[in-house]
Amino acid sequence: MVQTAIKTKAYAAAAPGEDLKPFEIQRREPGPNDVLIDVKYCGICHSDVHQVLAEWGNSIFPMVPGHEIAGVVERVGSKVTKFKAGDRVGVGCLVDSCKECGSCNEGLEQYCEKKLALTYNDLELDGVTPTYGGYSDKITVLDRFVVKIPDNIPLDKAAPLLCAGITTYSPLSHWNAGPGKSVAVVGLGGLGHMAVKIANAMGAEVTVISRSFNKKADAEKMGAKNYVASSDEASLKGARNRFDLIINTVSSAADMNTYMSMLKRDGTMVLVGAPAEDLPVNPFSIIPGRKALAGSTIGGLPETQEMLDFCGKHNITADIEVITIDQVNEAYERLLKSDIRYRFVIDINSLK
Ligand code: NAP
Ligand code: ZN
Repeated sequence: MVQTAIKTKAYAAAAPGEDLKPFEIQRREPGPNDVLIDVKYCGICHSDVHQVLAEWGNSIFPMVPGHEIAGVVERVGSKVTKFKAGDRVGVGCLVDSCKECGSCNEGLEQYCEKKLALTYNDLELDGVTPTYGGYSDKITVLDRFVVKIPDNIPLDKAAPLLCAGITTYSPLSHWNAGPGKSVAVVGLGGLGHMAVKIANAMGAEVTVISRSFNKKADAEKMGAKNYVASSDEASLKGARNRFDLIINTVSSAADMNTYMSMLKRDGTMVLVGAPAEDLPVNPFSIIPGRKALAGSTIGGLPETQEMLDFCGKHNITADIEVITIDQVNEAYERLLKSDIRYRFVIDINSLK
């Protein structure tokens, strides 16, 4: 256990599916390489809901969710040179990793081959201390896992970049979205809307594939050139064999074969959406056309900083609805109904 600790206000779920309620946690006093952050805003990712509902089967309670953290540095440890009090910073899905395997050495900490520590619903590398996320007013994080938020991005609109932004930037960059590439984004939610803005800024031609036509005007404002409503047969038919790359952000089971049919020869569909259910794929959705189905998870720390700088340069921010902490349970219900355009962000001042 930590020797000295900082009393911290938080919101936690006590058991699967229970409402989040006020909860007190302890943060460690910053060690030599630590940064103590005064949390200002935290986004609500659909992963928070999956995990509070224990849908992925790995939930630890009590759970303080939140991995889209934006705040201001309060204090730093003696060996920290990259940050100082007053800096505007962010923390995403990771707070530690082994820092010595091949993936960590390449700055791909999200693929750490030994042990990583997720920001919440996990244990620190000591194997006993639970990690608690950003629905809390302070957090102490190793400097390697902290990133700088560009001056031109307000902290509330920056918070969602720490997960939704990097989770879509990373595969778009890895699979070379850019001029001459036709990119489709399935699901216009928190991740999807970031994918559209980022892919558009990278120079790709972007299509949104949503369930209805309701979000068409928004998609166009975000930079999408084309729009497909998967509930409309004619719209679906026109989408066959059209895309080099599909970023699939869907949060519940949907028909994979329909989306695979939209890839061109040699196209790739990347799953970032993580429904709890299996997603059956017919072999003949993939074999003709030499298509690929891939996955991707968040991003490493160097790439997260690169994404933030890219968003700063292109003035990309999240479309948000700011809520107070006592509205969090209602926000979860609305998120499950896709009743949000496009990310809830908690004003952590309401918790202080
Ligand atoms: P979100 O805001 O709820 O967006 C998901 C979108 O998926 C919805 O807006 C909806 O878009 C579409 N959708 C939902 N159910 C569908 C269905 N049955 N059929 C077709 N489309 C459906 O969620 P999010 O925060 O963007 O997260 C999306 C998923 O990514 C979640 O599963 C989350 O856990 C996962 N995730 C993964 C990573 C990673 O590292 N790989 C990181 C973060 C999140 P339309 O209304 O436009 O149809
Ligand atoms: Zn997330």
